[in-house]
Amino acid sequence: MPTYVRTDKCDGCEGQDNAACMYICPHDLMRLDQDGSETGHAMKAYNQEPEQCWECYACVKICPQQAIECRHYADVVPLGASVQPLRGSDSIMWTIKFRNGTTKRFKFPIRTTPEGSADPYGGENRADLAEIADHNTLFTKGTHVFDKTQFTHR
Ligand code: SF4
Ligand code: SF4
Repeated sequence: MPTYVRTDKCDGCEGQDNAACMYICPHDLMRLDQDGSETGHAMKAYNQEPEQCWECYACVKICPQQAIECRHYADVVPLGASVQPLRGSDSIMWTIKFRNGTTKRFKFPIRTTPEGSADPYGGENRADLAEIADHNTLFTKGTHVFDKTQFTHR
């Protein structure tokens, strides 16, 4: 079941070129309706293909306005209930609302090092797209040899 945007909360990431939900969606589903011509809501984001949504929750977690919610399968989260995360720099708080009005919150740590301290290249040089066709400069050069016998049915 897909995500949807609460237009009363979305601020279009203050008109930045790449809204947070657009940046993070692995399926490029989120769009910002700049002039309102798509949805009738100018400067509000929307899920352009809800049936393609993976429900990965990435956009829900990254939205700084908590403007994105997810429609869940009724047998997991029935109508009127909700599951909403609030991501911090070192933890995430999940708020679970039941249909009877009960609310529960669960806080989990999400990292053990300071935010921004991870080295994505592990001491190697940064990737250079200009060299993408040169097999000799690939990051994994010499460390992986493709062995097609691994995939042979026996
Ligand atoms: S991340 Fe949130 S506030 Fe920013 S454009 Fe998307 S829905 Fe709106
Ligand atoms: S839940 Fe995942 S796949 Fe669906 S719109 Fe959000 S980021 Fe994209």
